[in-house]
Amino acid sequence: MLPTHPIPCPRCGRTLYHAVSLEGGIDAGAPECPRVERDAQGHYMRCPHCAERVAMQHLVTGRAEAWRIAGPTT
Ligand SMILES: [Zn+2]
Repeated sequence: MLPTHPIPCPRCGRTLYHAVSLEGGIDAGAPECPRVERDAQGHYMRCPHCAERVAMQHLVTGRAEAWRIAGPTT
């Protein structure tokens, strides 16, 4: 298994999902992948803890699809 690390909510700091790479992405087909929705501003997910709108970035590498939170990941 690949190592995972938790990605915190930018608002409440609780875990949004567990990323499987250092880039902070999660496989879009994984059962633990959060549900990503779309509105006029783009893709996002709701934090399950505080309901914050968290912008998501869609990553496509070949036939693999992943999501990660948008913006700086430092
Ligand atoms: Zn939150």
